[in-house]
Amino acid sequence: MSKKAIIVGSGVGGLSSGIRLAKLGFEVLIFESNGFIGGKVNSKMIGEYRFDMGPSVFTEPHLIEELVSLCGKSEDFFQYHKLEESCRYFFSDGQHVTIKSGKQEVSKSFQEHFGEDLSQTKAFLGRIKSNYEAVYPVFIEVSLHRFTHWFNKSVWKAISRIPKYGLMSSMHQVNKSNFKNPKTTQILNRMATYNGSSPYKTPGMLNIISHLELNEGPAMPKGGMVAITNTLKKLAEDCGIKFYTNEFVSAIIHQNNEVVGVKTKKGSYACNLVVSNMDVHFTYEKLLNGFAAPKKILNQEKSTSAIVFYWGIKGSFDQLGVHNILFADDYESEFKALFETKSMHVDPTIYIHITSKIEKNDAPNGCENWFVMVNAPINIGQDWDQILSQMRERVLTKISKQLNTTIEELIEVEEISDPRKIESTYFGKQGSIYGNSSNGAFSAFYRHPNFSKKIKGLYFSGVTVHPGGGIPLALNSAKIVERCVKEDFLLS
Ligand SMILES: Cc1cc2nc3c(=O)[nH]c(=O)nc-3n(C[C@H](O)[C@H](O)[C@H](O)COP(=O)(O)OP(=O)(O)OC[C@H]3O[C@@H](n4cnc5c(N)ncnc54)[C@H](O)[C@@H]3O)c2cc1C
Repeated sequence: MSKKAIIVGSGVGGLSSGIRLAKLGFEVLIFESNGFIGGKVNSKMIGEYRFDMGPSVFTEPHLIEELVSLCGKSEDFFQYHKLEESCRYFFSDGQHVTIKSGKQEVSKSFQEHFGEDLSQTKAFLGRIKSNYEAVYPVFIEVSLHRFTHWFNKSVWKAISRIPKYGLMSSMHQVNKSNFKNPKTTQILNRMATYNGSSPYKTPGMLNIISHLELNEGPAMPKGGMVAITNTLKKLAEDCGIKFYTNEFVSAIIHQNNEVVGVKTKKGSYACNLVVSNMDVHFTYEKLLNGFAAPKKILNQEKSTSAIVFYWGIKGSFDQLGVHNILFADDYESEFKALFETKSMHVDPTIYIHITSKIEKNDAPNGCENWFVMVNAPINIGQDWDQILSQMRERVLTKISKQLNTTIEELIEVEEISDPRKIESTYFGKQGSIYGNSSNGAFSAFYRHPNFSKKIKGLYFSGVTVHPGGGIPLALNSAKIVERCVKEDFLLS
């Protein structure tokens, strides 16, 4: 009889863990407290407009393709557009710049728009590519908590490059020392927000994110971001995985420090192992009540949250692309507000994502679906209703000024999300999107391992555990869980 695995949560990390364990021969059950599958990667129709409700930037599509191939499906099972542009940037002095992707194109743009030296930019982009390639096999694809994982032949290459990572300097310091124009630095600094961190605190090592965004360039799944979780759901169903939606797991049952099942309102379910895709903080707080939690890990500074305005816009704007950023003038103050005073800056950086630029059915003819996001601090009980009304005003004023149009008059449908909603819908502790922030040189070592050292049969996947935030890393967390399970259950 096959062994049974229960996955708590159907986010990217949960779905991909389920598929991998099913392929190892486990009978897999996935429990999801929401009525839909996919966690933060879900989609909603608001009037005639379709919106991706969570992530918008997608890199490393090969990680989805890997799962497609693991399940024996053909390549076209998951399709995506490779975007020529990485992002359009708008500065308050009126300058706007489109940055394409690819080393050559990016270097040319930085030279043309910001006066940067072509060969110096190329060298920088080459360096972050090499850093990425060196750290991937020893930090990202493996558990940092099992010696046998990271001690492989790649470790020497990774160690030999340590002086080049910028571990002891902040991302900002590294970027500032490589580029003369503050605007170039600001563009590169932005990548810290991809895992909810501050470029003024996160180590220069995290410039490897720019490799994915600038050298490789972003992709967009055909059908929108939700195609990622729809694809994973189809693969899971094909593997025979059973889904239990609207069923919140209230406890992980363990006896003699070994997992034996889970509990929900509808009853208890026995199993041989559990993978929690729930925020690790809440896994201890809500599902392992009374069990000693690893306080040092759980008490690290949390990543940012977000306020999102989903606006159906009656009109279309050629100035805007799929990804657009309207920068704050004083970027450093914005991050101080987010992390130190846990407040919104008066002049926030605004991100506008428009899938209907490519996916024409996402909005009515001549209209656009705007996903407008500003980074927000975690929820510590701020007066969010008051903040939202103030932010809505500020965001509208700033966009209207840049586009020289009164945007409010064009809003046909609207919904708003804030840190409270992120916490209540997806169980992200205090609304943080990525669990712990990476605001320290050794943050990677303060992320929770992908397995419990104290309860046999308990594993963790998703953005709040190693290797960290974002869809690609959640997919890697599932790969690590698969390897740990194989080792622990002595599977070949
Ligand atoms: C506004 C926003 C913008 C983002 N932008 C990007 C981006 O551009 N690019 C990117 O890569 N990432 C982005 N992210 C992060 C991205 O959503 C995550 O990296 C990704 O979805 C992986 O999440 P996860 O696997 O940790 O699971 P989650 O998506 O957090 O899902 C966890 C699931 O578990 C369920 N659950 C929790 N506890 C229980 C329980 N006890 N019982 C049953 N079910 C439970 C929850 O309901 C949820 O569905 C963004 C997120 C948000 C909110």
